[in-house]
Amino acid sequence: MSDFTIERNEASAPFFDAAREGRLLIRRCTVCGRLYPPQQRRCVDGEPLEWVPATGAATLISWAVDHGAAVAPDLLSAAGDGSVIGVVELEEGPWMNAALPGVDPTQLRDGMPMRVEFAVFGEAVPVFLPA
Ligand SMILES: [Zn+2]
Repeated sequence: MSDFTIERNEASAPFFDAAREGRLLIRRCTVCGRLYPPQQRRCVDGEPLEWVPATGAATLISWAVDHGAAVAPDLLSAAGDGSVIGVVELEEGPWMNAALPGVDPTQLRDGMPMRVEFAVFGEAVPVFLPA
């Protein structure tokens, strides 16, 4: 049982509601249409952002193995000796940082197709696995 939990606030509620249903939402500027990762607050032009669906398809940009204590056992690498954190480029363009749970980091390569999954820590949060 993990004591690592994610808690929502009003701004993030639509994101977590969708995540619970297995859908990834990203942010889009209501004025210029630029797309951003979920944590983005405002467009570079200062305009507000709205939630829009993403396919969940991505490619792997880079990754790192954190050999510190995992925040949650579910996020451990395949070898169980650390957590793999990746940077992925969503099909829609924005980049996201996310855990790559249960993967063998020696099997990862640049440009590898990835797909979103959701891990539940109080709230469902996106993680990525090889597609
Ligand atoms: Zn904009």
